[in-house]
Amino acid sequence: MKLQELRRRCRETLVLSSAARPEYSADLIISRRLGLGRAELLYKDDEIPAQACEGIFSMTAKRARGVPLSYVLHEAEFYGYRFKVGRGVLIPRPETELLVEAALEYFPSGRAASFADWCTGSGCIALSLLLENESLTGIGVDKSPQALRWATINRGFHRLEKRLVLLRNAEPAEAPVGEGSLDFIISNPPYIPEAEMAGLMPEVRDYEPHMALDGGAGGLFLYRKFFESFPRLLKSGGLLLLETAGEAQICALEDMAPSEFVLMNKILDYNGIIRHIIWR
Ligand code: GLN
Repeated sequence: MKLQELRRRCRETLVLSSAARPEYSADLIISRRLGLGRAELLYKDDEIPAQACEGIFSMTAKRARGVPLSYVLHEAEFYGYRFKVGRGVLIPRPETELLVEAALEYFPSGRAASFADWCTGSGCIALSLLLENESLTGIGVDKSPQALRWATINRGFHRLEKRLVLLRNAEPAEAPVGEGSLDFIISNPPYIPEAEMAGLMPEVRDYEPHMALDGGAGGLFLYRKFFESFPRLLKSGGLLLLETAGEAQICALEDMAPSEFVLMNKILDYNGIIRHIIWR
């Protein structure tokens, strides 16, 4: 089949499904599978081998069934870098980039520091920090073996084996991290209130791991554990940087936070909602 005919069919399949941005998604699937730039799709019209067409049709059909585009492509972009993703790991979200950006304001390129990324998932936060500041070293922690497999793939893809240790751990209280050894701890924990899980968009609810999303009562389950266990892992003056669900949760966290925490910053997301909070 010729490229333009392939494009037309894939677009049609996605337009007929309820997938968001059907034309864009079709072109992205085709360009990734064929290793072509998206602009090349506009003017080329080569004959595409049958096997490649089949691969592309099957990816398009998955997207049409509602599988998130990042899972179909097995790839997501975060902070300008590529991360491998698939079932069992949270797809990196753009608002989380703002948490990385904030951390880099405190620890800019060249400033040495050691950190932990709790609930590392794909490793997107930890690896972006390491790529942006070559003087950092980190520990990525997750309780999900599946997530850690993706983090390991991404650590290898970005050749950061020497600067990121990946650990399986579920309990902040049992973290195998030396007391007073970290300059900062950063986390985008599961924070969706349990009661709101059923109301998530089907594309999220039916595909992404609930373990990475469900934050228990009020979405606060893990933050409570962080507050109990993290202060002793941090050096004096160390920072805790957290993503949250938004303003209501930030208020709840401010009430819960230990009295020795000093508020450093609150950060708005792209929708103007307070999403991240930083304490010293
Ligand atoms: N740290 C990863 C991310 O921000 C995973 C977060 C999670 O699983 N809750 O995408």
